[in-house]
Amino acid sequence: MQDELAELVSAFRAHLAWRGAHGIRWIPAADSPRLGAASVEPLAVEPASPQGDRVSAGADDEPAALVDLEQVRQELAGCRRCRLSAERHNIVFGEGSPDADLMFIGEAPGGEEDRQGIPFVGAAGQLLTRMIKAMGLERDEVYIGNIIKCRPPGNRDPNPDEIDACEPFLRRQIDAIGPRIIIALGAFAARTLLRTDQAISRLRGRFHTYHGLALMPTFHPAYLLRNPEQKRPVWQDLQLVMAEMDRLGLNRRRT
Ligand code: SF4
Repeated sequence: MQDELAELVSAFRAHLAWRGAHGIRWIPAADSPRLGAASVEPLAVEPASPQGDRVSAGADDEPAALVDLEQVRQELAGCRRCRLSAERHNIVFGEGSPDADLMFIGEAPGGEEDRQGIPFVGAAGQLLTRMIKAMGLERDEVYIGNIIKCRPPGNRDPNPDEIDACEPFLRRQIDAIGPRIIIALGAFAARTLLRTDQAISRLRGRFHTYHGLALMPTFHPAYLLRNPEQKRPVWQDLQLVMAEMDRLGLNRRRT
């Protein structure tokens, strides 16, 4: 009996993994004796609408999917799902701890990132590294990624169809890593993730919800390099994140 149960669990896990690999983010509900007929109940709902000043995107009660980060990386290898593949040198998948509690998400790779295949390198990346250290963490203790994995020509904003093609892989990355908190870097990342047109200056400074996860929008490090007077509000945002990490008992060096 135990062997049969183990076999059943193993088969169910494999089926869930298969559904995840094919982008199927719901499971059919069991037949309802009250309704007397089978029903299909989506478990993941997108997108969301603004709730007052706090923006919520995605369902809050999604179950953790069985997703492997390396599997997602392999699915993206050689990706030609959108026109950004034409001029890229490297797919910039992301880097950091595969089970990080804290995840930083930016917009898209720039020129240096495209050359190296690593997110947030160059001057803005160095500033992000200093921000992470100031939070009592190291770069390899968090995960850093972008919504779009290939550099848009001339660093233009990604188009909606490019976001549609690439964002599902970000969602699967998030499922695989399972962060507790996300920091959205810059207006584009914050607005895209939260499905809102609000200005970053209005969004930052408080937590929002992204598929059940706490999300803090803040200014992009590249913007900070051009506007150093905005470092103070960014530090305030990071302090809120640190306080939440401490409340949740997440690892970081306290200063
Ligand atoms: S941007 Fe994303 S969807 Fe488009 S080609 Fe690159 S990896 Fe594929």
